Formats: sequence, structure tokens, C-alpha cells
Amino acid sequence: MNRSVLSRRGLLKGMGSLGLAAVSPDVFATAGTVLPVHPPDPPSSPIARAVTSFALSDVDLLDGPFLKARLRSQRYLLSLEPDRMLHTYRVNAGLPPRAEVYGGWESNPTWTEIHCQGHTLGHYLSGCSLMYGATQDVRFKQRADYIVAELRDCQIAGKTGLLTAFPEGSSLMGTVLSGKKYTGVPWYTLHKVYAGLRDASLYTNNPVAMEVLIKYCDWAVTATAPLTDEQFQMMLEVEHGGMNEVLADVHEMTGDVRYLTLARRFCHQSILAPLAKSRDHLDGLHANTQIPKIIGFNRLYQQTGQKNYLAASAFFWKTVANTRSFVNGNHGENEHFFPVADFTEHVFSAKASETCCDYNMLKLTRMLFELDPSAAYADFYERALYNDILASQDPDTGMVTYFQGNRPGYMKLYCTPVDSFWCCTGTGMENHAKYNDSVYFKGTDSIYVNLFIPSVVRLQPGVSLTQTTQFPDEAITKLQWKTDRPIEMTVKLRHPHWCRTATVRINGKPFLESRQASSYIELKRVWHDGDVIELELPMELRAVPLPGNERIVAFVYGPTLLAGALGAEGIPPGSDLIVNERLYGAALNTPFTPPILTGDPAPLVGQAKPAGPPLSFDIPASGSSTNVRLVPYYKIAHERYVTYWKLAPEQDRLSAV
Ligand SMILES: [Zn+2]
Repeated sequence: MNRSVLSRRGLLKGMGSLGLAAVSPDVFATAGTVLPVHPPDPPSSPIARAVTSFALSDVDLLDGPFLKARLRSQRYLLSLEPDRMLHTYRVNAGLPPRAEVYGGWESNPTWTEIHCQGHTLGHYLSGCSLMYGATQDVRFKQRADYIVAELRDCQIAGKTGLLTAFPEGSSLMGTVLSGKKYTGVPWYTLHKVYAGLRDASLYTNNPVAMEVLIKYCDWAVTATAPLTDEQFQMMLEVEHGGMNEVLADVHEMTGDVRYLTLARRFCHQSILAPLAKSRDHLDGLHANTQIPKIIGFNRLYQQTGQKNYLAASAFFWKTVANTRSFVNGNHGENEHFFPVADFTEHVFSAKASETCCDYNMLKLTRMLFELDPSAAYADFYERALYNDILASQDPDTGMVTYFQGNRPGYMKLYCTPVDSFWCCTGTGMENHAKYNDSVYFKGTDSIYVNLFIPSVVRLQPGVSLTQTTQFPDEAITKLQWKTDRPIEMTVKLRHPHWCRTATVRINGKPFLESRQASSYIELKRVWHDGDVIELELPMELRAVPLPGNERIVAFVYGPTLLAGALGAEGIPPGSDLIVNERLYGAALNTPFTPPILTGDPAPLVGQAKPAGPPLSFDIPASGSSTNVRLVPYYKIAHERYVTYWKLAPEQDRLSAV
């Protein structure tokens, strides 16, 4: 979420020059006002996706790190009280609250001006809906149903369709729409509730969610109708989440073209136009403000066939994933894109890789994959999923990170359960609920196996595939058919970019070797009950240079980022759970001298010795009799770590001897 001083200054400057015509107060009085006529949109022709995902309920996770992470997230979701998240929604609707409001971004004065009050309810509704979709655990449906019913009551009492938890009530949106000055990101916050209602509608079989969502959308249609296109674009200078995406979704769900028209109006042209021409103008922009807009462009391409939307979203992905990302698959410093030539100046920040950014990048990646099922998308998905999203959760408390910095010897800092409620707390409620959404995809008479996560996928009635693996602890996965009839199908196994030679065995017999990394191995045949596919993916230790600087490297083993585990000396237990995300880089800022690695990357890799536990290596540190232990970064918690190493020249070691 964009709340830095720099951005807010830009925001205020933008708002100061808005000069929007005053919007009639009637906008907030009634839904159903007659709308002014806008120029007709270009003809639309929806694009069929090349592959589609399975329903969340068709893929079960089996025991492994992802199931464990989901269970932690389940416990957290069940520990929260919906009435506390609903507090200000009820107050703003003139209804008595049923419980005290939560703290942090939800109500604490420290964050009043960012106007994120109420965002958590939306993420929570999405999280519970996804969790119900993934687990069919009725406790999550009950919570989602309860929130939907409460929001319906608020809508009825409030009369306009608008749902807000801002301290100013609905008047803040009046200010936004009138072009007057305001602070923070109101549309961003509303978007979370739109998305929550969409997800409740998609995953919990509750028709009321759709009713509430439609009323909410109708409010937006009416409220924004008086804005000229120029005024609308000025409004979009401020972070507004994925309003274009969710409106496009509602268009698809209802067929009502008004929502498509509004989705198009919510497309920020000054971002869309250069990207559509393959121009990377992202330097200095707030990262997580942009990614949801790009997701919306992609949705609009799917619904309209307009190629500029596809060009912009595919180019954005390419430039961010391939040229702007750290080894963990995330990007940016202090929430902003920096020039691609400047990695060296930014890499060692404690405030890199805002977790929300990968929440959104993964959404974008899977959408692009559905249009163009290329292994490069799935490779990136795996990289960011293990090394950023899975890594973002505290294995003990289930709390989540905001930033994941690379400051040598710093620690992961996590939110607290009920006093933080950052943007990343919100996306964190969703991240760990949907690990089963991208393991497999359906093609025409084919199934894509993208991720090596223990799971069962039900392809058709009577036909399932069970994946058993300890991956990435072991470099092999096994898929077994259970089918009540012989079935002809092409199994497309991802041969990841990090593996030189992949080996396939069928029913224990060698079948083929693939030497084409970042591709799919296609197995077309008639499968019988009990048939077993084994895919072996040998891993190796590699030093991955920082873009633009070969003397700064990170170590990976197969898909897994390894970090130096440096202990927690001097760090009081529990002090890495913080309330205020603005303290990243300042909290736990005690002096610490990390070990130094010396020499060139290749000899260092050669000196690393397996340390016993899976994916662990000891590597010699300079000037120290002890080795550094490298372990999977996603397992690091409550201790200091190093991800990127600035290698000292070899002569340093020689002169020290
Ligand atoms: Zn965030």
C-alpha cells in the first residue's frame, strides 16, 4: 500500500491540480440515477483461455509445507472476530456496532490519513471464501455468510449501496469524486470489499454476496457517472487497487455491460499507454499501485479482445519478472520500482520486496499463463511462491511479513495478530488459502503439472491424479492415476528452468529424458488405474548474480533460495512481531557484523558441502574458523539471515592469512 511520504506528496500534488467539477450530492443519495451518455466502447469479443484452472474444491493439498502454511492461516482466520472488522461499517450505516473496532490500520490514529480503515474486512472475506473453496470447512462459509449478511444490512440501512469504514463515513468518497484534496487511498480500500464480495460469490455459493456486490457496483456506476474522462483519469492518479479488474469480473458474472464500461474507465491510461507500446516507464513508480491495474488490463483483454490490454500486461510482466526482480521473485525498494541499472544501490535495504507485490504478481502470472501456457510463467510462479510467499509466514505464529529485505544480518519482521492489519496482513489472509489454485491446469485433453506440491486433483468423475513428493527436499515427484476407466490424456510435466536434465519413468521403467529446461514434457497415452509417473529433477547449487553486479550473489539450490542462517543472539523472543510497519529497518537495528564470503562465485559453490538436513550447505566464511550454514530462505524465521552476499576479493583472504 502506498503511504510513503514521497508518494503522498505526489498524490497531494496530483489532487491539488485536479480541478474536478463539483459532483452533485445526489450521487450519494440514490442508486439508479439516469447516467450521462459516454461514447460507445469499441466492439468486444471475449478471448478463450488456452488453459483453465481447476476449481479450488477439485484439488486437495496433502501434507507438506504448503498444507502446513494453510493450516496456520486457517487458525489465524478463525481467531479473528468478524464483528470487530464490521464495527465501523455498521457505525457508518447508522447501526450500533456489535464489538470494539480492531487497531492498527483499522482504527489507530497513526494511520488515519492513509484511509485504509475497513480494508481488512474485504481481505478477510476473500480469505474465508478461498479457504472454504479449498477445504469445504463450513466454519469459513459461516463466517463469510455472516459478513455478507451484515454488509447487506449496512447497505439497506445506508440506503446508497456504498459500504465504507472511513472515519468520515461516506463523505470521504464525496470528496474524492469532487476533486477536492484528501489523503490516502480510499478506492484502494473499497476495492478490497468489492473483491471480498466477488470471492464470496464465487466460492461460497451465497447468492446474497452477488446482490450486495451488484448494489455496491451500482453505487460506483452512479457516483462516477458525472466525471468526465479527464476527471476520471485525474482521480486514477491515486492508488485504486484493482477496481478495473473487479468491475470486469462483475461484468463477466452478470453480463451487465455497464460494469464493463466502468472497468474501462478505471483503466489508468498513463500506465496503460506506454506499457502497451512496450515502453518501461516504471522507474520511481509505486509498485503495488501498478500491479493490480495490470491485472485489470489482462481481465479486460480476456473480455474484449482489445490487444493493447494484452500487450501492456504481458510486457509489464516481462519487464518486472525478468529485469526488475530479486532472486526471491519480488522487487522494489521501499515499495517503489528503481532503475534497473541501480540494483547495487538498493539491494541491501531492509525494505525490499513488499509481500503484497508478489500476491499480485502471482495473480497476474497465472492469468497470463491461462492465455499462453508457457513454462516461463510457471517457473516464475514457483520461484516467487517458495521464496517470497511461503517465506512470508512465521511458522510459529502464522503472522506475515510486510517487506522481505536483503540487509545482511537483518531479520524477517511480522505483523501482530490484532494490532497491525497492514496491507500485507490482508493479502496474507489470502496467500496461504489458495496454494491449490495453481498446481494443475486443464488444457484440451491435457493436464499441466506446474508445481510439485503433494496433492490430489480430481480431473473428472472417477478420475484423479495423486502427487506424492517431499519436493524440494527431494528432487523427485510421483503422480499416480486412480481411474475407473482407461483414459486418454496428455500429461504435461513442467521441466523447470533450473534443471538441466529431467528424467521420466512410467510404471518404474525409464521413459524419456528431457534436456530442454523451461518447457513441458508431454506424455500422451491411455492411462490405466494405478499407472505411475515419476519425474526426477536433479538440482544443483548455483550462485545467482544480482542484476548488473556479478560480485553480489545469492545461492539457490534447484528452485530454493538459500540464506545464511545467523542465529538470534541479542534478539529478545517475540520482538520480531511488530505493530508498526514503518519501523522496518529501524526495529531490531542493533549492530551486527555478518560473515564475509571471499573469492569468485564458482569456487565458492565448489567449496559448499552438504550439511546434513535437506537443502542445507556449509560454506566457508572469510576470516572465520566457522562455516556459514545455508538453509532454505522460506524456512528462516526469528533469526538473522543473509540472502545476497557481496563477495570480497580473493586477495583479502590471502592478505589475512
Ligand atoms: Zn502490502
